[in-house]
Amino acid sequence: MALPVAFASSEPLDAGSLSTAPIRLPRPSRLAAPLPGASDLGPRAARALETLGLHTVGELLEHLPRARGEARTVATLRRGETATVLVEVQRIDTRSVRRRGMKPRVAATVADATGSMEVSFFNQPWLAQRYPPRTRLLLTVRTDERGRVSVTAHAPTDLQVAADAQVAQYPASEGIDSTRILALMREHRDAIADTLEPLPARLRTRERLPDRPAALAALHFPGSEDDAEGGRRRLAFDELLLVQLALLRRRARRERAAAAPSLDAERDLTKRWLESGLPFPLTDDQANALEDIDLDLSQTHPMQRLLMGEVGSGKTVVALFALLRAVEQGWQGALMAPTETLAEQHFATIQALMPGEAVPAALLTGSTTASRRQDVLGKLANGELSLVVGTHALIEPDVEFARLAVAVVDEQHRFGVRQRAALDAKGPAGGDEQLTPHVLHMTATPIPRTLALVEHGDLDHTVLKQLPRGRRPIETHVAGGERERERAYERIREELRAGRQAFVVCPLVEESETLQAKAARAEFERLRDTEFKDFRVVLMHGQLRPREKQEAMAAFAAGGADVLVATSVIEVGIDVPNASVMLVEDAERYGISQLHQLRGRIGRGEHPSLCLLFGPKDSARLKALAAHRDGFELAHIDLRLRREGELIGTRQHGLAQFKIAQLPDDEALLERARVRAAALLDADPELAAPEHALLAAALADAYGPEAAAKIAA
Ligand code: ADP
Ligand code: MG
Repeated sequence: MALPVAFASSEPLDAGSLSTAPIRLPRPSRLAAPLPGASDLGPRAARALETLGLHTVGELLEHLPRARGEARTVATLRRGETATVLVEVQRIDTRSVRRRGMKPRVAATVADATGSMEVSFFNQPWLAQRYPPRTRLLLTVRTDERGRVSVTAHAPTDLQVAADAQVAQYPASEGIDSTRILALMREHRDAIADTLEPLPARLRTRERLPDRPAALAALHFPGSEDDAEGGRRRLAFDELLLVQLALLRRRARRERAAAAPSLDAERDLTKRWLESGLPFPLTDDQANALEDIDLDLSQTHPMQRLLMGEVGSGKTVVALFALLRAVEQGWQGALMAPTETLAEQHFATIQALMPGEAVPAALLTGSTTASRRQDVLGKLANGELSLVVGTHALIEPDVEFARLAVAVVDEQHRFGVRQRAALDAKGPAGGDEQLTPHVLHMTATPIPRTLALVEHGDLDHTVLKQLPRGRRPIETHVAGGERERERAYERIREELRAGRQAFVVCPLVEESETLQAKAARAEFERLRDTEFKDFRVVLMHGQLRPREKQEAMAAFAAGGADVLVATSVIEVGIDVPNASVMLVEDAERYGISQLHQLRGRIGRGEHPSLCLLFGPKDSARLKALAAHRDGFELAHIDLRLRREGELIGTRQHGLAQFKIAQLPDDEALLERARVRAAALLDADPELAAPEHALLAAALADAYGPEAAAKIAA
C-alpha cells in the first residue's frame, strides 16, 4: 500500500503528522455486522427490516433513498405541509383519555435553535418513557391548517443536521418508516467508509466519478441536490457498467468457444444478383448492412447480428444476401420465421427477388406433406438443397443439414433461447470440431438504442432507418366524436371511389379471441349494410378457417374487395400497395408499436395514405403516432411513457432491472459504460488482473459467476 502523502503533494508525511493523522482503513468485514434486532428496535420494526431484505449494515447502506425532502427548522414550518425536523424534547407527558374510544395521546414540547412547538403522538403512550427530556429526535410532522402539529414518524438520533440540508426519504415498509431508517443510517454512517470501491482508480478518474463511499454518503446525507445527483450518477454508472460487462463477456466467451466457417471468398453470385438481378437499387442503409454482414461472415467465429428495421424497410433483401453469400461458397442457408404465413411470404419474396438465378430452394413448415418433407430432408442432408425457408419445422431433431453456414431468424423475439440453440446445433461437423452457423437475427419492432443495449447488448446491431424510395408518408389523425366519424367514413368513401382500398381494424379484445371475432363480424355486417353498402367488404379474423382467411386476403390483395374489416391479425403478412386508408377503432387499446406496425400496411404504393385513429384526443400515445412516423422515435416515446407508467406500477420491460439507473434519461451514461466495459474486457477478458478483482466480484455478485442467469438472450 502507498504511504499517505501530504495534502495535494507527493511529499511523504513526516513522522509527527503521520502519528496524528486520522487514518482509517476500510474494514469491509464490518459491513457484515448484523443490524440491531427486535430487542433494540421492537418486533415490528425488526420484522419490517426483514421484509426489506435488510439484515446487515452493508445491506442497510445499499438501501438507497427514493427521494429527498428538505430538513426544516421549527420556525419555518408552514401550515398544511409535512416536513422533517431535528429537535430536542423539552417536556413530555401522557394526556389522560377523557372519553372511551378517544385515542391515547402523548403531548410534548420540542425545540430547535429557532423555536419550540407542541406536538402530539397518538396511540403510543409508551413514548413518554422512551423519549425523556433532552432526547434528540428526528420528527416528520404534519402541520394542519389550524397550526396543530402531529407526528407522522419519529426516531431518536444523536446526530446534528444542518437546518437547510436535504433529507433522504427511503422506501419504507409496514413497521418501519423512512425517518426511522434514516436514523439507523445515521447510526451506521461511519461504516460507509468500509464499503468497497469496485472501479479501477484509472477508470474512475477518467470518468470523473466520485468514489463509491463518497457517492453513498452523498445519497444518504446530501449537502445539496447536486451532491445527491452526483452520487446517483456514480451508482447508476456501476449498474450500467456491470450489465454491459456481463453481456460483453458473454459475447466474448461465445466467440472464443464457437467456431464458424469463414465465408471470405469474393462476391460472385451475389455480385451478379446485386448488379442485375435486383429490380431496384439498394438504400444506403441496406448497402451498409451488407458490408457489416460481409465482414461478420468472413470471421472464424459465428456472426450474432441483430438487424432492426421496421416493416417495409427491406430486411428481406439483406437476409437474402447473407443466405446467398453462403450458397455461392458452397454452403447452405436457412431462414426461420415464426408463422407459416410469414414463412410462405418470405419464400415467395425470395423467389421474386432472384429472377434468373437457379438456386435450389424449398419451403418446410408444419403443413408440408409427409412425402414432400421426406424429399426436402433428404436433399438438405445430402446438400442438394442450398436454401430452405421454414418455421420451427426447421429445427426438429430429424432435420439435418450437410453444410449449414448461415441462418436467418425473422422476428427473433418470438423464438426462445432453446429454439435458437437448436438452430445453432444444426451447424456442420468441421474436421473434429462442430461448426456453428452465422446467425442474423431480424426484428421489425424498433427498439430505442438504450433498450437494445440492455436487452440485446451481446449482439452486434444494424439498423435500417430509411424506407425504400417511393414509400409515401402516411398522414395520421386522431378522431373522436360522431361528427368526425361521419367525416371519416365520407373520406374513406372518397378514396374507394378513386379506386383505392381501405382497412378497418376492430378493437382489441384481450380476454378472448372468440369475443374479438364476434365484434369484428358485427362491425363487418354493420359497415357492409350501411356506411360501405355500395362497396365490396370482406372480413378477416383469427377464428376463420385457414382457407377462408386465404380467400379473404387473396380477394383483397387482387382488388376484388374494397374494404377489409379485420382484427389485428393483419399486423403481419400483407402487402397491398393499392390500400391507402386505415381506420383503427378504439385505437388507445393498442400499444404504440402495434399501431405503428398496423399503419405500416398502408403507404406502400404510389398514393398518399391516411390513417385515422379513433380514440381520445388527449391520449399521449395517439398524439405521438399522429406526430411521428419514425418507428425508432416512436419507440423512444413509448419507453418514456412506459417509464412514467411504471411509477404507477406497470413495469414491463428489461429496464426494470435497474435500481438506480433511469433509462432512457441515463442514455449517455449507458453509452459510456458500454465503451468502458468493452475496453476493460479487451485488456483483461476474464477480469483476472488484481486491480479488477473487486469489479469481478461485483459482477459475480450481480449476475452470477457465469454472468448469464438474469439477462435475456
Ligand atoms: P421488411 O421485411 O423489412 O418489412 P421487405 O423486405 O418485405 O421489408 O421489403 C418491403 C418491400 O420493399 C418489398 O416489396 C421489397 O421488394 C421492397 N424493397 C426492398 N428494398 C427496396 C429498395 N431498396 N428499393 C425499393 N424497394 C425495395
Ligand atoms: Mg419482412
